[in-house]
Amino acid sequence: MSPRTPAVVVVGAGPVGLTAALTLAQRGIHVTVLEQGAALATESRASTFHPPTLEMLEKLGVLEPLLEKGIVAETFQYRARGGGEIATLDLGVLAADTAYPFRVQCEQSKLTPILRAALPATAEVLFGHQVRSLRADTGRVVLDTASGPIEADWVIGADGAHSAVRQALGVDFHGSTYPERFLVASVDEDLADVLPGIAPINYVFDPDEWLVLLRTPEHWRVLLPTPDGTDDAAELRRLPARLTAVADLGRPWRLLHASLYRVHQRVTERFRHGRVLLMGDAAHVNNPLGGLGMNSGIHDAVVLAGALADVLGGAPDVVLDRAAAYRRTVAIDHVQRTSHDNWTRLRARDNSGHARLRALADDPVAARAYLRRACLLDVLAQRP
Ligand SMILES: Cc1cc2nc3c(=O)[nH]c(=O)nc-3n(C[C@H](O)[C@H](O)[C@H](O)COP(=O)(O)OP(=O)(O)OC[C@H]3O[C@@H](n4cnc5c(N)ncnc54)[C@H](O)[C@@H]3O)c2cc1C
Repeated sequence: MSPRTPAVVVVGAGPVGLTAALTLAQRGIHVTVLEQGAALATESRASTFHPPTLEMLEKLGVLEPLLEKGIVAETFQYRARGGGEIATLDLGVLAADTAYPFRVQCEQSKLTPILRAALPATAEVLFGHQVRSLRADTGRVVLDTASGPIEADWVIGADGAHSAVRQALGVDFHGSTYPERFLVASVDEDLADVLPGIAPINYVFDPDEWLVLLRTPEHWRVLLPTPDGTDDAAELRRLPARLTAVADLGRPWRLLHASLYRVHQRVTERFRHGRVLLMGDAAHVNNPLGGLGMNSGIHDAVVLAGALADVLGGAPDVVLDRAAAYRRTVAIDHVQRTSHDNWTRLRARDNSGHARLRALADDPVAARAYLRRACLLDVLAQRP
């Protein structure tokens, strides 16, 4: 690696690592992405893109292929279990704020190949390269990988919630784990037919059996809470009955895939450690209610990799410190707070919030303020 071309190694080829790599490569910086997997991940995870993320992807030149693969959701709905619609919020009230006043429903596994294909020749993605640890001194970082040591001027840890980079730095990941697990099922049913009037995204309130119904390009996804400490196989066996309780089709729902996972709200103490930056799930995790995990991770990548490019181009080092501090504040005060509030609201025991949501939907000024906060437009406007 030439000393005149500062080399950045990104650990992890998820949506966040590849966004950071593309941001840097487009600024003329030589980037290498190390990915432990043999290929990009294909598992079903985040599936909502918010307006500011669409704006960022547009600037990176990758929005068009994403729009071709996704579906546009102009509204989302709050519903009461058994009681139908409470309120439908129309993202069109954001028309003066963004070129994209809608969400795009598309799995993250469709974005990562698009990001990879957009990387210029100065960037490379090395698969089968698991990072085990790292050593940082004042001038360089040495990564210990399964294929031998690799040196870098800067390292970006975008290697997910179990980040080896974060662990090698010896920093904590403070926070808590939710008292229930989340069960995600993909179903081959058209829920718009079964539950007339639903939106592409629906948050269904119930103190015991809240749920989320999400349309993705090919299927619908159902997210259900599941007690902690129960047997996984038993939970999957009772899933058909739980789906029938959502809507009785007179036959079992056509179930394509289901998985159970534990959900945490955690954040690491600093996103910058000298020449090492942490971003995305490596730096903070939250519950998926509101679709903020991947979105805020992509925002980390654009803001932090942009600040790193500025510093490599001669800006004062403090620019990177400020960007790192800002992204941590966003993770705690906005991403975690909003996603936790969403969880609390879904399982509320009283209906007192329903009238407020109806009033919000009927008031475009209040709806605009609410949606600007919920999709992180407001907090991005405050970036340093
Ligand atoms: C089951 C599940 C469902 C989810 N559903 C939603 C949802 O509905 N909505 C939502 O907003 N968010 C959801 N999330 C969260 C969302 O998927 C993450 O916020 C998002 O993937 C973060 O992207 P990332 O690039 O930071 O990390 P990841 O997507 O985890 O990517 C990390 C990459 O790093 C690689 N890697 C890991 N360790 C190493 C290593 N040591 N060396 C080299 N490479 C390494 C991994 O193989 C992976 O490719 C879900 C997460 C899970 C686990």
